Amino acid sequence: MSFDQLHAELQARKAQSLYRQRRILQSPQAPEVMVDGQACLAFCSNDYLGLANHPQVIAALKEGADRYGVGGGASHLVNGHSQAHHALEEELADFTGRPRALLFSTGYMANMGAITALLDKRDGIFQDRLNHASLLDGGLLSGARFQRFLHNDADNLNTRLQRSEARRKLVVCDGVFSMDGDLAELPSLCATAAEHRAWMMVDDAHGFGCIGTQGRGTVDHFSLSSDQVQLLVGTLGKACGTSGAFVAGSDDLIETLIQHARTYIYTTSMSPAVASATRVGLKLLQQDEWRRDKLQHLIQRFRQGCQQLGLPLMPSPTPIQPMMVGAADHAMAISAALEAQGIYIGAIRPPTVPKGAARLRVTLSASHTDAQLDRLLDALEDVMLGKGRHN
Ligand SMILES: *Cc1c(COP(=O)(O)O)cnc(C)c1O
Repeated sequence: MSFDQLHAELQARKAQSLYRQRRILQSPQAPEVMVDGQACLAFCSNDYLGLANHPQVIAALKEGADRYGVGGGASHLVNGHSQAHHALEEELADFTGRPRALLFSTGYMANMGAITALLDKRDGIFQDRLNHASLLDGGLLSGARFQRFLHNDADNLNTRLQRSEARRKLVVCDGVFSMDGDLAELPSLCATAAEHRAWMMVDDAHGFGCIGTQGRGTVDHFSLSSDQVQLLVGTLGKACGTSGAFVAGSDDLIETLIQHARTYIYTTSMSPAVASATRVGLKLLQQDEWRRDKLQHLIQRFRQGCQQLGLPLMPSPTPIQPMMVGAADHAMAISAALEAQGIYIGAIRPPTVPKGAARLRVTLSASHTDAQLDRLLDALEDVMLGKGRHN
């Protein structure tokens, strides 16, 4: 048995500009990074608040390791549930205004685990077309009747819910859509879900820390209660600066996940040192209002700059500011030309986004300066508008 077939498939992928390659990061996350031996200015991390390399978060990781060691050592249900994990769960429940929160090692696992614990083939799941892969995968794995509704379209959701005779109905969406940067239209989606007595689940990976009161996220931004959004997922590897994720909700919900979420039960707990670091990340995320103010300032400045230049912005109020390009090879060429100028932005291509909808995904962080942002705008003008040597 040879791998000729795989080799041919890989070659075809290359020919279509869809081949993915890892770059080697040789520095911490920051605006100025070292990648494959080259210094560049990056606009592609999800470290929205600049906490991934914060001295207090680093110190907390070290102290956590001194106190609890590095490895979790076992799953949460055996003896891997440390005091650091437990304290973090209580703080997350408190911060999100819900009775309980449950920690998972990654957002991918939180989504897979929660959905499969709650639904089976008697049930129905209703997902926004642009939902994150982990939500789609969780829905498929659950065996529930799977439906995708048009992006942010409550009428389309309503039609689908009306037709469903499922035992349980779960409506799921991103709070902030990860490749478009727009917010879920939660008021209308939640009202529609409630009309049909469906549960509402929001994955706020990109809203948590960035919007809402003290960074409480998209659900808080729209002033929705835990009666309207019964399952809230947040991830800790983005604005919070560390890693992991949580599901927050009622006591019965969390107890059900502890009993049935396979990605919770059959895996080693995250490092307790990371849990310790995350407690400090969460505190900084909450108290440093200036980081969100700075981010808003940068978002406005970037959008104004692009509008003046006539660059193709998408309607996003968040630090995710994608520029639609279209063809995958064009997106790759722009990304390469920017890199030649020392600017690092990821080209997002199918299957992450639909065919013909490749884009440059610019992300902003509170740690960027105005001068760095202006460098980005100059480079975009040069590369995208043909003012420079690359066109
Ligand atoms: C990043 C992301 C996840 C996955 O979270 P990880 O902790 O990185 O596994 C889930 N949902 C959305 C919307 C995301 O953007």
